[in-house]
Amino acid sequence: MSLRIVVAVKYVPDATGDRHFADDLTVDRDDVDGLLSELDEYAVEQALQIAEDADDAEITVVTVGPEDAKDALRKALSMGADKAVHVEDDDLHGSDVMGTSLVLAKAIEKTGYDVVICGMASTDGTMGVLPAILAERLGVPQVTLLSEVKVEDGKVTGRRDGDSASEQLEASLPAVVSVTDQSGEARYPSFKGIMAAKKKPVESLDLSDLEIDADEVGLEGSWTKVDSAAERPARTAGTIVKDEGEGGKQLAEFLASQKFI
Ligand SMILES: Cc1cc2nc3c(=O)[nH]c(=O)nc-3n(C[C@H](O)[C@H](O)[C@H](O)COP(=O)(O)OP(=O)(O)OC[C@H]3O[C@@H](n4cnc5c(N)ncnc54)[C@H](O)[C@@H]3O)c2cc1C
Repeated sequence: MSLRIVVAVKYVPDATGDRHFADDLTVDRDDVDGLLSELDEYAVEQALQIAEDADDAEITVVTVGPEDAKDALRKALSMGADKAVHVEDDDLHGSDVMGTSLVLAKAIEKTGYDVVICGMASTDGTMGVLPAILAERLGVPQVTLLSEVKVEDGKVTGRRDGDSASEQLEASLPAVVSVTDQSGEARYPSFKGIMAAKKKPVESLDLSDLEIDADEVGLEGSWTKVDSAAERPARTAGTIVKDEGEGGKQLAEFLASQKFI
């Protein structure tokens, strides 16, 4: 039987763009270009490598996001994934990680899976918690933050690198995995891949397809609430230390005042 690999990919606002909050204190996504979260490219790459090592495998990429999130799916398809699932619904606006993970879990259950691969964190929210919550919702083991991952004989194995030691982890399938940016360079889509991606199937689902009530997601269903937000102050000119014999001392005093030393 074909190994069913699902990769959760997020469409994020471009971090190099000028990002702002909307009146309801959510990120104004219309105001900035988006793209596939760079850290999720590593997840797609690991899925492709696992599929290449398997006799028979199928990779589905899934995203929860607005209309434009299809761009993230197309990028993953052009890298080599086989098909995509896009969950989009106006009632998702403002969903926090609890709502997003609920929707992803239902979409992944509907798709069918043996292994779910996530990035280590999104490049916008950077919570790094979604894979663990997703595993809990699906009721399957989680092996997170892997720098090396293999799937064979009904198991997922991998290495998690810590500051002082590396652990070898193993879980039986089905399971949820997250991979780090040390897991291997993600491939660039080839021209052939980009053309092929245009013809690959993208299934669109909304909340009713997943039997989720609107009040379980969105701002209303969120467990967290943003009370206030302020734009980061503009950068001020730095302090210039002119060395007239006391430069080293002044530098040390500055570093000490900032608690760097
Ligand atoms: C339209 C929309 C509006 C939102 N509005 C808000 C809001 O107002 N306030 C708020 O707190 N949150 C909001 N979210 C949810 C938020 O953007 C995150 O998806 C969620 O909180 C997970 O946190 P994170 O991005 O830090 O994920 P992490 O835990 O850092 O992500 C780890 C991994 O989980 C997977 N993943 C995460 N998000 C998605 C996704 N959407 N689709 C597929 N895979 C994913 C990726 O593999 C990623 O690498 C919104 C999401 C959407 C789609």
